Amino acid sequence: MPSLQSHHTFSLQANCLSIVEFNSADAFISAYNQADHAYILGEGSNTLFLEDYQGTVLVNRIAGINHFDTESHHHISVGAGESWHGFVSLCMQNGWYGLENLALIPGSVGACPIQNIGAYGVEVGKFISSVEAVLLTSGEKIIIKSADCNFAYRDSIFKNELANKVLITQVNFVLPKMYSLETSYGELSKLTAPTAQQIFDAVIAIRKSKLPDPAQFGNAGSFFKNPVVTTSQFETLKSTYADIPGFGVSHDETKIPAAWLIDQAGFKGKVFNQVRCHPTQPLVLTNLGNAQGEDVVTFAKEIICEISRKFNIKLEPEVRLVGAKGVIDLV
Ligand SMILES: Cc1cc2nc3c(=O)[nH]c(=O)nc-3n(C[C@H](O)[C@H](O)[C@H](O)COP(=O)(O)OP(=O)(O)OC[C@H]3O[C@@H](n4cnc5c(N)ncnc54)[C@H](O)[C@@H]3O)c2cc1C
Repeated sequence: MPSLQSHHTFSLQANCLSIVEFNSADAFISAYNQADHAYILGEGSNTLFLEDYQGTVLVNRIAGINHFDTESHHHISVGAGESWHGFVSLCMQNGWYGLENLALIPGSVGACPIQNIGAYGVEVGKFISSVEAVLLTSGEKIIIKSADCNFAYRDSIFKNELANKVLITQVNFVLPKMYSLETSYGELSKLTAPTAQQIFDAVIAIRKSKLPDPAQFGNAGSFFKNPVVTTSQFETLKSTYADIPGFGVSHDETKIPAAWLIDQAGFKGKVFNQVRCHPTQPLVLTNLGNAQGEDVVTFAKEIICEISRKFNIKLEPEVRLVGAKGVIDLV
């Protein structure tokens, strides 16, 4: 059985029945139809294989980047198997700005719309004009316009109505030539009149200083989503925890940084067998070298239970957890 350890950034030891790389929608459909069970994989930076997967892992290698511009916009079509950071770097080299805040996020372009990747005040959905895909059942090609993607915080139609129903083959981006830089977030706000290139460089430097490098300690970035609570629940929490941070997402909803909750619950730096809650970013769980899938599950459940007990908030994983038969829920 081939190993999946190098196919996901958390690097757990797990195998599968077979691994097939494809570079076109037709090759994908042919491989998909031959498999009893199949899991679509990009770069495995949002996926943990907790145990041996009893199916075929189909790795997306659809390549190609095409650009044209109009008076006001750059239009770029990108094959879903391209590297996200490679694409952002290419945009910077060509002066196509807007994506600089999303530098150094691991993963493939095809996965970026699925959880509407975001960082430093920017979400990718804002720059996507449409997503091209094929239906798994029929192989029919479809195009989903941005307005129909239902982009939201770490969410989209691809995690809901279209979950496990499509292969994303291409993402089409539109970047305005007249752009305004997003510098409101954290350390970026300290930059004085930065250029897009300076933001790109700063984001890379900040990420390298704060986040563990998966090549050193396996991880999948943020393990949990930041919970969104009603503003009245937030006010109640604030009466007990005066320094609890919160960011309004609508007039009656507030987003609370999960890292703060996990830190307050005493997990920061804590180790369970070979899994560690990262000391400088407690939202990230890391593999100290030889972690087992069940260690990750046990530790993650302990964190969820404690946050629920202490704050009455249910943390949800941001990562995909794959067991023997496919994606599993933690709770
Ligand atoms: C160190 C680190 C930092 C990170 N920082 C951030 C961050 O700042 N912001 C953020 O939003 N995310 C972040 N992430 C998470 C991750 O980078 C993103 O979720 C990324 O988009 C995942 O891409 P991937 O190709 O690795 O996805 P995979 O893990 O390979 O797949 C993720 C899911 O998408 C499905 N999928 C993948 N490709 C396709 C396709 N072409 N068609 C249909 N389904 C598909 C898979 O089946 C799976 O369910 C981070 C991860 C790491 C390791």
